[in-house]
Amino acid sequence: MLRQNPSHHTPAVPLATPSFHGSRLRVQVRGAGIVGLTIAHELQRRGHRVTVVDRAPASGASHAAAGMLAPSAELWPGEEAILRLGLTSQRLWPALATDLGVELRHTGTLLVGHDAGDREQVRRQADLLARHSHPAALVSRREATADEPGLGRICAAALLAEEGSVDPRAVCAALLDRIRVVPDRPVGEAAPDVTVLATGARLPAPYRALVRGVRGEVLRLRMADASDLPTRTVRGWVGGEPIYLVPRTDGELVVGATSEEHGGAPVVTAGGVLRLLSAARTLWPALDRAALVETTARDRPASPDGLPLVGPTERPDVLLAAGHYRHGVLLAPLTATLLADHLEQPSAPLREPGLDPRRFAPDGAPRRWPETPTRRARNPNSTGPKPQLDRERSERDDHDQREGA
Ligand SMILES: Cc1cc2nc3c(=O)[nH]c(=O)nc-3n(C[C@H](O)[C@H](O)[C@H](O)COP(=O)(O)OP(=O)(O)OC[C@H]3O[C@@H](n4cnc5c(N)ncnc54)[C@H](O)[C@@H]3O)c2cc1C
Repeated sequence: MLRQNPSHHTPAVPLATPSFHGSRLRVQVRGAGIVGLTIAHELQRRGHRVTVVDRAPASGASHAAAGMLAPSAELWPGEEAILRLGLTSQRLWPALATDLGVELRHTGTLLVGHDAGDREQVRRQADLLARHSHPAALVSRREATADEPGLGRICAAALLAEEGSVDPRAVCAALLDRIRVVPDRPVGEAAPDVTVLATGARLPAPYRALVRGVRGEVLRLRMADASDLPTRTVRGWVGGEPIYLVPRTDGELVVGATSEEHGGAPVVTAGGVLRLLSAARTLWPALDRAALVETTARDRPASPDGLPLVGPTERPDVLLAAGHYRHGVLLAPLTATLLADHLEQPSAPLREPGLDPRRFAPDGAPRRWPETPTRRARNPNSTGPKPQLDRERSERDDHDQREGA
């Protein structure tokens, strides 16, 4: 869980953001992905003047995303904070989807394992969720195949009934209908009171090192007969290979995703397509008859600890909304609310101090917060509180065979 004590996460830098409480702000949002656009929409809804700047709107990770709203399936050891944040944000999605007039499929996720090793993955996930008071319903093979007759051979299944999905392209299109995006800041326009950097995997200087790109490849297929699609998201493991299939009402099926740390441009690789297709058709044999209509690769924006960077920087007029990694679609409405609340009440304690971008120095190094007297008394040799996230990262490294959205 995220620490609740803001003193552990907030460095000894005064919150210098000017107080705009009660007034109409002029905000520039840089980046028109799902995060920047949702923030702009929320600020506009609250009556602020927003300009969004992006030369290629909605062309980043949001263009690739499968759109799963899957806080439970996405839970990894060491990333418990994402479960809580994800569940909170998931609750905001129905209102946002209704407001935008986009479909929110609330069909749940069927988590499956193909062989005996994969069965252990399903069990581990169910155990992990149970430990976090969020049990998954284990279902028999017979029940699973009765529910989804198109399934190939599986050894284990669990139903995560509360999960859903949206089509991020439809969401961004609806947002772009409501929000004006310009390629550059209009000449002669008054300087903004605040700039929000929501540029995904490419943060500008001096914040560049806070986010790195983790390549994800994803396929889009189309079934001749929509009744050949799964009725809900099917997600799981095939011979250890993580895979998901996300159906859309219009007959599209999104199959993803690879995950790779890399330095270059996010290109689609032959190996990536091969791995995805062969795992997907094992789970869903009818895919052999589907048309492969698109292959896409984009960088997921990952922060050093895997948690988003949402809130203030040392500069009073610059805020960050970046590093949403595998969860940017899920977390977009919560991010917009947190950002807008902070802009309107900059002196109030952050609602989610664990997302404070200042937990890292601009070069990406974790900051050590000043030690509290109580802690020093308990451990006289301590040089300061070890950031909880170091431990989380090593736990996550132990599970690096898993991949997410
Ligand atoms: C294959 C794949 C599948 C995924 N599936 C899911 C999923 O199922 N569920 C989920 O919750 N998340 C998923 N994600 C993660 C999700 O896509 C990202 O977390 C989310 O899209 C990040 O949104 P963003 O707006 O921060 O960044 P982006 O969507 O990358 O948008 C950034 C925008 O900033 C613009 N930009 C860049 N530099 C500048 C600049 N200097 N000035 C102005 N604009 C700039 C770009 O043009 C772009 O439009 C997936 C990601 C991938 C790659």
